[in-house]
Amino acid sequence: MSSSKAATGFALPIRTATPSSVRAVNRSIVLELIRRRQPVSRADLARFTGIFRSSVSDIVDELIEDGFVLEQRAIPSQRGRVPMILRLHDAGYPVLGLTIRPAYCQIARAGLNGRIHKSLTLPVPASPKKLVQCLADAIRKWCQESVAAGAPEFRRIGIAVPGHVDAPAGRILWSPTHAELAGFPIASEIFERTGIETLADNDCNLGALSELSLGKMENKDHAANFILLNVSDFGAGAGAVLNGEIYLGHDANFAAEVGHMVIAPDGLRCRCGRRGCWELYVSNEASWRRLHPRTPFTIERFNQMLAAAHSGEKRTLAAFRETARYLSLGISNIGFLFNPAEVIVAGRITAIWDVLRADLASLYGAAQLRYSIRPARLSADDSLLHGAVCLALRDAFAKPKFGEMLAVETA
Ligand SMILES: [Zn+2]
Repeated sequence: MSSSKAATGFALPIRTATPSSVRAVNRSIVLELIRRRQPVSRADLARFTGIFRSSVSDIVDELIEDGFVLEQRAIPSQRGRVPMILRLHDAGYPVLGLTIRPAYCQIARAGLNGRIHKSLTLPVPASPKKLVQCLADAIRKWCQESVAAGAPEFRRIGIAVPGHVDAPAGRILWSPTHAELAGFPIASEIFERTGIETLADNDCNLGALSELSLGKMENKDHAANFILLNVSDFGAGAGAVLNGEIYLGHDANFAAEVGHMVIAPDGLRCRCGRRGCWELYVSNEASWRRLHPRTPFTIERFNQMLAAAHSGEKRTLAAFRETARYLSLGISNIGFLFNPAEVIVAGRITAIWDVLRADLASLYGAAQLRYSIRPARLSADDSLLHGAVCLALRDAFAKPKFGEMLAVETA
């Protein structure tokens, strides 16, 4: 079939390398090096990469022209010639990140370095249309401020969604905390109202993207295989970074949804319709219910429980140790599945890391499991919001890919 197509002139979706793609690859390498090594000189870039100085200069000139890079004179430290240094042009590529949380949503603006300059918390209206309206109003206000200040227009918006997302299509498939958003094409709806290209993905994937980006900034190249586990108030989810990229799964809908690993076939009934899913035993609500089975969970009450654990209250510590036991069970399963270098835990529960740390690694440890388990660099909210910003910046730093295009079916 394929040979007859080839014989009659049908082109397969194969992206081949051309002279111009060599330059595109080198451009992405140079931009990434400037991001990681800034401030850096043209001579340093030529030395680091082995690319001819003239080719480096051509690429740098193009990056400056496109607004990605700034060249400035270094601050002189001694007499003599003061070199020119390169940095990312933070303000040259402004982006927005949005997160939808169970009780509120957040919006942040950032530049090419990915650092959040300003953020805002908004309520989540009950209907998808009102949610989009509310977000679009806030975005338009910031756009007007940017225009008034003479700043460039926002280039991209990234959205972190709690639940399953068809990431290539930017459509929410299912959200455990926002049933009204099922099937909602949030990326195209935001684009229609703002004119800004918009991308959406699962929030735990974006928490993982945040850790990947922060690891790169710290030049931790070994951090290419890790799992970001977000222990949230009502569930647990994860993002898997494998070989330096977010693993999306075959249809990009719900890879690494570890919260729904069944660990007790006759256990508690889950929102997904099955019994004994892991998140029912490790969420913040699960920890709360161990101690207070008849009092509804609230964030304030849970924060008091964390404070009681801090002060060494015995029953509270016992409840959290039970959570740690279940966390250890699931984390070891994750370890055997992915062989990660790190399992990174995000969520309010990391406030009592000293209480959890030893049990997480040891209770279901095994000689083969040699990952490290550590808390996320940022709080859960900040991690997801920063991840949404990283999604908005993804195309700016993307490397060209070659070979057969295994496009995900989005129809
Ligand atoms: Zn489930």
